[in-house]
Amino acid sequence: MIASPALGNSLQYLKGVGPRRAALLKKLDLSSVRDLLFHFPREHDDRTRRTPIRDLRPGPARSVQGKIVAFDVAPLNRFLSLGTAVISDGTGSVRALWFRRSSFRFDVFASLKKRLLPGTEIIVHGPAEFGRGGLQIRVEDFEAVSSEGDPTLHAGRIVPVYPLTEGVEMRWLRELLWAALRDYAGGVPETLPDDFRRDHDLAPLAESLRQIHFPDSLTARDRARRRLAFEEFFFLELALARVRSRREEGPPAAPCSPTRKLLTPFRETLGYEFTSAQKRVINEIFADMARPQPMSRLLQGDVGSGKTVVAVSALLLAVESGLQGALMAPTEILAEQHFRTFKKLLDGLPVTCALLTGARGKKERRALLEKAAAGEIDLLIGTHALLQQDVAFKGLGLIVIDEQHRFGVRQRGELQKKSTSPHVLVMTATPIPRTLALTLYGDLSTSVIDELPPGRAPIRTHWTLESNALAAVRRAVSEGRQAYVVFPLVEESDKMGLKAAVKEYGRLSNLFPDLRWGLLHGRMKADEKESVMARFKAGEIQVLAATPVIEVGVDVPNAAVMVVMDADRFGLAQLHQLRGRVGRGVHASNCYLVSEAKSADAVERLRLLCATTDGFRLAEDDLRRRGPGEFIGEAQHGLPALKAGDLVRDTDLIQEARDAAFALTSQDQSLQRPEDRPFLDELRRLYAGRLFFGRVA
Ligand code: ADP
Ligand code: MG
Repeated sequence: MIASPALGNSLQYLKGVGPRRAALLKKLDLSSVRDLLFHFPREHDDRTRRTPIRDLRPGPARSVQGKIVAFDVAPLNRFLSLGTAVISDGTGSVRALWFRRSSFRFDVFASLKKRLLPGTEIIVHGPAEFGRGGLQIRVEDFEAVSSEGDPTLHAGRIVPVYPLTEGVEMRWLRELLWAALRDYAGGVPETLPDDFRRDHDLAPLAESLRQIHFPDSLTARDRARRRLAFEEFFFLELALARVRSRREEGPPAAPCSPTRKLLTPFRETLGYEFTSAQKRVINEIFADMARPQPMSRLLQGDVGSGKTVVAVSALLLAVESGLQGALMAPTEILAEQHFRTFKKLLDGLPVTCALLTGARGKKERRALLEKAAAGEIDLLIGTHALLQQDVAFKGLGLIVIDEQHRFGVRQRGELQKKSTSPHVLVMTATPIPRTLALTLYGDLSTSVIDELPPGRAPIRTHWTLESNALAAVRRAVSEGRQAYVVFPLVEESDKMGLKAAVKEYGRLSNLFPDLRWGLLHGRMKADEKESVMARFKAGEIQVLAATPVIEVGVDVPNAAVMVVMDADRFGLAQLHQLRGRVGRGVHASNCYLVSEAKSADAVERLRLLCATTDGFRLAEDDLRRRGPGEFIGEAQHGLPALKAGDLVRDTDLIQEARDAAFALTSQDQSLQRPEDRPFLDELRRLYAGRLFFGRVA
């Protein structure tokens, strides 16, 4: 369907707008008539009930309807003037007050005087309170009631409350929307065919637009929102379904089947049994990799659940099948750690493993790349340095991306371009709330490790004073354990913050000169970082003071104390990750959150963290508190803005929309049936040219 051109018209040409106001609306990201119609209220205020004046009591805003008996104006002081109307509704009368900033130049009440002539029927809305003349209403909104029965917009109905910006007033915007809906809503082409709407109990689009702005009832409003949100999610899921089916139809992947040449000896020398959750996800991954379609799987597992050996198993399957594997980690520290872990785990196996980070020298790097391209390296581990142009493989069978949330979707796409169609496994320790798993990661299949390896001593979390936390550090060290002390730093590139952290490190290490301290932050040279981590792993460093570079993945089982300074400056998910650095061995571990925060939000967050170690619960809570930004990160660039849909609340609706979208594509993969044409058109309108987990339309 071609949108009628009028919807694309610039707002400037709407009555009462003009260039100056159009520029203001632009600040709200509103340029066309269509944008305006889809600028939904942030909430509604139900002002349908009129309170008889006789029943009015002091309290929050109420609406009263009556006739103006009189209207007078008097200066209140040098700055404020007061307009007072006496309103009568047959049950009594009440004074309604308008405050205006005084002006010497003009009569600030000129327009009110004209509108509030005695005898005028009016609705006023505002809180009632006792004043000098008895009960009075402080007017927040009002509207004259026309004798022709024209509908009111600001009172006497369910009133929309819009997001505003400086210079755009609520009343003006309401009136603008009212007029735009009257003139244009009927011309908005329906995007969902009748049958489809009937099947999913969805209201028509034009009707929904009217009802989400100026609803006849709250039920009608909810129904409108449901339709509009469903539509957003439906087309998003349709896009995801197409990305998936394109990938499946695209260049085939090399199927991998276990010969057990490597996997069996690996498992036998591991020293422990896989947990049943690990076994289950390994089976899911192997089943995917056995197919000639490329795997796209998300592996979720809380910190310490043992994702690394799952990744190793999958990579060994690729190598057994005569292919290469790559593992991409978000930081150099983590890439190096993985490299060391891999070397240990693969000791004695005929597997060549190499590390590629930005820090390698030129010559060394070139030699390494030649080997990778010649197929002489089986497993290449690295940071995003793996994404560089000159990195090539002979036959890349599997890419594992660790701690996916640190990477953008775009980077994920980059690595996928490296080989015709490798299998892809992305791993994350940040539990992803369901709504996001269904949208943001909706093109991926999901595996979850929902069980920790046996014998883990639970981590206890305390919100405490610095002195207590440091005493605990000393105690732990005297028992042979190690500790982390983490300083807040929003970004590793924050120089001021880093300076403060280094200074704090100096203060603490002077306070406890008998402990062996080390310092680690993101701006240190790669070999410095490497040597600090190695010394910490070896136990030479007892207390590692660090910035949040150590947030993800770092695995030192002897570390049993985590101290987080100014803990309130971190989000829930991040604190959970930091806490996950301890409790990785058999030792009873403690996490100390040092904070003097008093704000209700911080108090609640820190308490919740002390009360639970359930990552999913914390992630859900973080999503509710801070919105999806924290999870989305880079990926946001691909995700269209949701205007009616709500990633926090709409779990069931998202599922329904997803089912509908996947059902549709399973019947008509490329939407070529004539009856599916409207879906394809709308999908193109929304996603054309958008690179979003791959090309959609
Ligand atoms: P994460 O999922 O956070 O990446 P890791 O893979 O680093 O977790 O594993 C955490 C620790 O648990 C490692 O020291 C690892 O050796 C150990 N581990 C993993 N799986 C098991 C298991 N099945 N039994 C015992 N220990 C395990
Ligand atoms: Mg890990």
